[in-house]
Amino acid sequence: MSHRVTLLLGGNKGDMCSALRRAVELLEQRVGEVVATSRIYRSQAWGFHATEQFLNQAVVLHTNLEPEPLLDATQAIECELGRDRRAEAEQKAACGERYCSRTMDIDIMFYDSEVISTPRLQVPHPLMQERAFALEPLCELMEEFRHPTLGLTLRELNENLKQR
Ligand code: ADP
Ligand code: MG
Repeated sequence: MSHRVTLLLGGNKGDMCSALRRAVELLEQRVGEVVATSRIYRSQAWGFHATEQFLNQAVVLHTNLEPEPLLDATQAIECELGRDRRAEAEQKAACGERYCSRTMDIDIMFYDSEVISTPRLQVPHPLMQERAFALEPLCELMEEFRHPTLGLTLRELNENLKQR
């Protein structure tokens, strides 16, 4: 059974353009057919201080993987692209911030229109409605998609965020 999944890729360390390209290739090989990719968006770090800008890209794909195996696959790709969670934890502890610079973060925004809440996985991603860097690329691909719990389309969520 194929599921339509929307991911948000992002990072602010190293050669992010090639990391994004490589992540999309690995997703295609291991997760499923990539049906759409947004352009790459630049933004300032959100929730912490960093000099490097973030690059973000939304990806829609079809997959046969269930949600947790999908998360296993995306986390394996993060690791292969240089993400080092232990180093990040040390950096966060040292500067007292909740977020920090990273080479590749892959977050699951939507899994069909399912609502998932397990210790490892919250879908839809709980903070997308607060984050322009998520809503802008998502809107490029699917602005009429209705958020399964908030009941608004991505376009409406983005308009609401801009008005704040
Ligand atoms: P963040 O994305 O918040 O900066 P991480 O990428 O380190 O931080 O993720 C922390 C944890 O968030 C992961 O170990 C994962 O289990 C959990 N998580 C919960 N919901 C999601 C989701 N929708 N997509 C990706 N990870 C998620
Ligand atoms: Mg993440």
